[in-house]
Amino acid sequence: MPGSHNWRHRFKGHVSRWTVPREAILEFLSKSSKHMSAKEIYASLCKSYPGMGLTTIYRTLELLARMGFITKLTLGDGQSRYEFKSSEKEKHHHHLICTECGKIINYSEFLDEELKLVRKTEEKLAKKYDFKILDHNIEFLGLCKKCNKSKNITKRTEELKKKSKERVENAK
Ligand SMILES: [Zn+2]
Ligand SMILES: [Zn+2]
Ligand SMILES: [Zn+2]
Repeated sequence: MPGSHNWRHRFKGHVSRWTVPREAILEFLSKSSKHMSAKEIYASLCKSYPGMGLTTIYRTLELLARMGFITKLTLGDGQSRYEFKSSEKEKHHHHLICTECGKIINYSEFLDEELKLVRKTEEKLAKKYDFKILDHNIEFLGLCKKCNKSKNITKRTEELKKKSKERVENAK
């Protein structure tokens, strides 16, 4: 199984103690190539780990995201999605997230161009705030092709649209 157990090696010294939920969730996400919600993870793991409740899963996911082992994506529906952070360069990607339907698009084709800008920004931020930057998440929020055509959009998206228009106009 590619990727599986790799994380053990990678993260071995990162935590003082590996609890069952941490191991089980990381193992599960490292084998999945999808962006999963806490509820989906719970549904997949509850049979093998009957003692692991949804609250524990939420808490563990937050912790793993904070430690940089997984990426947390915040969607318009209020339900975050989680994804294993691969160490392999070819798997590194950023996200386009549709705030209407929750569709997530992975992209990696413009990363080199973006990286130049990101590096420059990171250097300046590090200096100004005396902050050592280790990683980044980049996500763009918007509307997918289907939702952009749809006439029934939610209030939230309506607001995002308005704000984006203002931003464009202010930049002129
Ligand atoms: Zn990146
Ligand atoms: Zn959509
Ligand atoms: Zn992704």
